[in-house]
Amino acid sequence: MSYLPKLDLIVSETIAPVAQATDRDSAFPRTAIDTLGKAGLLGLVSAKEVGGMGLGLPEAVQVVERIAKVCPSTAMVVCMHYCGTTVLEKLGTESVRKDIAAGRHLTTLAWSETGSRSHFWAPVGTARQDGDFAILNGSKTMVTSAMEADSYVWSTGPMAAEGVSTLWLVDSKAAGLSEPKFFDGLGLRGNRSSPMTATDLRLPTSAMLGVDGGAFDTMIGVVLPVFATLIASCSVGIMDAVLDASCAHVSASKLEHMGSTLADLPTIRAYIARAKIKADMARTLRDDTLAAMATGRADTMLRVMQVKAGTAEAALEVTDIAMRVCGGAAFRKDVGIERFFRDARAASIMAPTSDVLYDFIGKAVCGMPVFG
Ligand SMILES: Cc1cc2nc3c(=O)[nH]c(=O)nc-3n(C[C@H](O)[C@H](O)[C@H](O)COP(=O)(O)OP(=O)(O)OC[C@H]3O[C@@H](n4cnc5c(N)ncnc54)[C@H](O)[C@@H]3O)c2cc1C
Repeated sequence: MSYLPKLDLIVSETIAPVAQATDRDSAFPRTAIDTLGKAGLLGLVSAKEVGGMGLGLPEAVQVVERIAKVCPSTAMVVCMHYCGTTVLEKLGTESVRKDIAAGRHLTTLAWSETGSRSHFWAPVGTARQDGDFAILNGSKTMVTSAMEADSYVWSTGPMAAEGVSTLWLVDSKAAGLSEPKFFDGLGLRGNRSSPMTATDLRLPTSAMLGVDGGAFDTMIGVVLPVFATLIASCSVGIMDAVLDASCAHVSASKLEHMGSTLADLPTIRAYIARAKIKADMARTLRDDTLAAMATGRADTMLRVMQVKAGTAEAALEVTDIAMRVCGGAAFRKDVGIERFFRDARAASIMAPTSDVLYDFIGKAVCGMPVFG
């Protein structure tokens, strides 16, 4: 756990002081990302053989959760970078893997499309072969770190083969890559999530990641467990932050005419209790998901689907309670609750959305094929 003291220092000295401005100005947290890179933390899940820390998901979870407690926008940039890195560690070139490990390359996933919407596993964007090149066209709904990342793990339909999807490593400098419209979001405003378009974007066919038409297994088998657990950790961090802030607020807020505080009201304490139970259940589910993965338990995929939906929905409820118990003060930006309330809204609609997961989980529990 030698990375934790460095991380905590960066969180308190570099990320926390600008978290409010990152949200207010929709400012990409470039200084934080550069600092995390220099500290080796962008290479946390990169193999030691390419210069990375060689750590895994349990450690990445700690990074995302601790950052999310002060700035969920920055945490989501790191979350998507670790997801992209997971693909590139398996299927990328040594050169890009070394750049990521050295902290000089930020990556992300560009999967969700305006055509197939949140059904990210079925892109309608195309890749057409032109000799040794592929010509990509497609329209992505939203990409975290849009126009800020150094590369995009980009999905299209297959170029020539059977199958549902193909992955590509798209360099940020590729001609034909654009952001049609800056996205002025409700929450996670600093993570620079925006639509992106590929228009006749020309890539060498060697930029294909894995085999043509074979991306489904990578998306579901490799990335989904990582993404689900990391975004769950962002939700867990958010819940911790709003619970701390609301407990501090209700304990300090006086009802002078009664000589008591908001925390002396049983109704307020009952709301706080309900929020704490939700938050702790969510954390326990996240930790059990990690345990299932570590031991290869038979229910691992069920846990993966549950953890994303369960923590996202818990974060909606916990941040809602925080807004309620803090009353009018919660509307004030300086109290630091409404930002987490807004940021928490993203997890339930980031693909796979909670409602899609409910359908998948219901199928799994009823013994039906989930992805059939
Ligand atoms: C802050 C933020 C960052 C993002 N970053 C990225 C990123 O880095 N990379 C990326 O690829 N994408 C990213 N996305 C996009 C995201 O993953 C989703 O695609 C998007 O939020 C879903 O939007 P949509 O309008 O296409 O959903 P829609 O598919 O239109 O969904 C609308 C509603 O219909 C429901 N619905 C849809 N299909 C079903 C179904 N089969 N069963 C039941 N209900 C269904 C949904 O649950 C939802 O409630 C990001 C989104 C946000 C908000």
